[in-house]
Amino acid sequence: MSRRAEEFVRATVRPLAAYGPPRDPAAVALHLNESPSDLPAELKRELAAQLQALDWSRYPITDGARLAADLARAHGLDPSGVLVGNGSNELLQLLLFACVDPGDTVVVAEPSFALYSLQAKALGARVVSVPLRQGQGEFRFPVEELARASQGAKVVLLGSPNNPTGTTLSSEDAARLAREVPCLLGIDEAYRDFCGQDFAPLLAQAPRLVLFRTFSKALAAASLRAGCLLGPPALCAELRKVQLPYNLSAFTSLIGRALLARPELVRDRARLVMAERERVGHALRELGATVHASGANFLLFEQERRPANELHAALFRRGVLIRNVSSAPGLSRALRVSIGAPALNDAFLAALRAEMGA
Ligand code: PMP
Repeated sequence: MSRRAEEFVRATVRPLAAYGPPRDPAAVALHLNESPSDLPAELKRELAAQLQALDWSRYPITDGARLAADLARAHGLDPSGVLVGNGSNELLQLLLFACVDPGDTVVVAEPSFALYSLQAKALGARVVSVPLRQGQGEFRFPVEELARASQGAKVVLLGSPNNPTGTTLSSEDAARLAREVPCLLGIDEAYRDFCGQDFAPLLAQAPRLVLFRTFSKALAAASLRAGCLLGPPALCAELRKVQLPYNLSAFTSLIGRALLARPELVRDRARLVMAERERVGHALRELGATVHASGANFLLFEQERRPANELHAALFRRGVLIRNVSSAPGLSRALRVSIGAPALNDAFLAALRAEMGA
């Protein structure tokens, strides 16, 4: 009997479930932590004209390096310590692919972004999950436990602010982890603009620290698929060996560079999100929900009135899609809502009030 094609897939991949957020369309989509608004129409028109003027038949030989140079300048780093890719997730995968051997230990916090452990497991890593600490209703990073778990590990992967809890790592704790973790320490800063976090200054003193950043959140360009990795130049040189040639398109580079040149857009957007996060959090508390402190563009909330699955489905029937995270360990009553434009947030709150009988 000849073997079927899928039988040739790595044994570590076959038991995995594909990462897949719910994709059902909804009038009020607050499940993907996207920006509350699109880029300005005038900027899109200008960029469209510039894209048209490019010669599309050419390989983008230096385009990725140019975006990396702009990112390096924006973050006060040497370009040799910057890698660019099609979304930050691709760079996370690159780091793991280049560094993790089967049987290596990868440490993650729990609950956290499922992709970290999914990609590590696909490579045959042993994933060690360290639970976030819960004190006075708030999640905190268990810095000591993480440092302990990292002994003998290959990589520690954290998100700050953490998805789905919104928990942030203080600069002091990040610096302490960077000192005490003897292996690679990857920190995913996808949501950093929503709390003013910037761990790039730590890189100079932290020889094993790697940061991931994205254009998908505060830069309002999730459709672009762009992100970067900031890390030790000698590590980046190794990663470049396995990065695919011309990985970044000329279009991505051109648009990414234009967005970096408009930091005021990010500031204004982040300010709006932070104000709305405050307003939505307050309204959720008024409905009796526990709302976790969040440095991100989403809120994790728990309520006692309805099972999370049921409330999630009821909101969806009203055209409001948020994220059901209640299957994650320790989050059985929790739902996560992205902070969108004020009108969408109002629509979410109105639907929630109707469903919670308030
Ligand atoms: N990191 C985390 C923790 C996320 O939640 C997301 C969005 N799902 C991303 C990164 C975004 O990745 P990308 O840059 O590939 O869009």
